[in-house]
Amino acid sequence: MSKGFRRIRGVHDGLPDMVRRWRRIEEAARDVFSRYAFAEVRLPVLEPTALFVRSIGEATDIVSKEMYHFVDQGGDDICLRPEGTAGAVRAWLQAGLSRAGATRWFYMGPMFRRERPQKGRLRQFQQIGVEWFGVAGPVEDAEMLAMAHAFLHRLGLDGLRLEINSLGCPACRPAYRERLVAWLSERADALCDTCRERIQSNPMRVLDCKVEACQAALADAPEMIAHLCGDCAAHFAGLKEALGALEVAYVVNPRIVRGLDYYSRTAFEIVTDRLGAQGTVLAGGRYDGLVAELGGPATPAVGFAAGLERLAMLLPEEPAECPDVGVVALGDAALPHALRAARALREGGCSVLWCGGGSARRQFKVADREGVRFVAVIGEDEAAAGRLAWKDMHSGEQRTLTVDEAIKACRAALRSTARGIASRP
Ligand code: ATP
Ligand code: MG
Repeated sequence: MSKGFRRIRGVHDGLPDMVRRWRRIEEAARDVFSRYAFAEVRLPVLEPTALFVRSIGEATDIVSKEMYHFVDQGGDDICLRPEGTAGAVRAWLQAGLSRAGATRWFYMGPMFRRERPQKGRLRQFQQIGVEWFGVAGPVEDAEMLAMAHAFLHRLGLDGLRLEINSLGCPACRPAYRERLVAWLSERADALCDTCRERIQSNPMRVLDCKVEACQAALADAPEMIAHLCGDCAAHFAGLKEALGALEVAYVVNPRIVRGLDYYSRTAFEIVTDRLGAQGTVLAGGRYDGLVAELGGPATPAVGFAAGLERLAMLLPEEPAECPDVGVVALGDAALPHALRAARALREGGCSVLWCGGGSARRQFKVADREGVRFVAVIGEDEAAAGRLAWKDMHSGEQRTLTVDEAIKACRAALRSTARGIASRP
């Protein structure tokens, strides 16, 4: 295959070792989010390009250089979604749900951004996202954060830091923005090229530049949280109070700005020190203006998205589950009974590996390699008697059993080791 096709840069293959970890994360998300009464949605990967230009903002990295978009054969400008929130708002409006009151959704799936590929930064990656439409209060922001916290705790990821900030609102941000632009303009020489370009187009994003020289120059930059209006200040205080009540630890980081334009008030990131520069595993905030921006009724909302691949990098390897039973069929005459026995064992809840026929030696080797707990041998005698020779690979014990007895034996053994059937839903 050395001369064959290669993967596109920045995308990856989810092979079984990795998919087991992804599934563990997805199952934790489904379980925790449903306890918070959120419902799963599955939304399109393809959306109109204009949806993202309108929602995320033209001056953002995503829209200005990272979107995978194309004009299709019918002349429509279509985009592989770079994030989930805009599509969720579109779907919610299109389904007429804005009339039905608050809505709680979550989703998981691939997102696409043409970023510079590096560890923890892919061009096709997966997000688990959550959106809560129609709620305005700081208590709901805290509930969201408690839910994110519970999800990460379920995964055994406790050494993470929650950072929160407030980005203000249309009442207080413009004045702050002006002050910031003036402050940055005076120090433009000390900033990197990207930051200099952003002073006018997206000044708040300058605060979050990763270049060290910029960070040094920005040490005393004016911060949004010192310039909040009364309502935004009260909201931020309410958030901190509710987090305190829930005993969710946090630090205020006035430099969190988020890459997207549509955020207002609460913004947050959950960060690890274990992934270098790509340490944000979950991020989100309030986006009170977005629904109206996309043509809907004014609707406050809050949400977050977690990067599945980054979370997976923090988890230990997930061991493969071995099949419960290997079926060894000896001779053509035994074949029909062996096939039916394998199916019956599966219907009884066992996972069954067909060992592939051939010599007993070869089939036992397969069973051994796959780590099966039991081997069911079916030769002509067993087929004639409607039974199977049942070998416990742990104890070496052998018995002749009916298929029903074998199912019972399998269930009992796996229950006692708390894996296999007993832990399957
Ligand atoms: P970053 O600051 O790391 O670029 P972002 O602000 O662009 O993140 P969001 O758009 O808020 O991130 O996405 C939420 C989460 O999705 C991130 O915290 C991260 O875990 C994950 N994520 C974002 N972009 C990528 C990517 N290119 N590859 C892998 N994961 C990503
Ligand atoms: Mg980014």
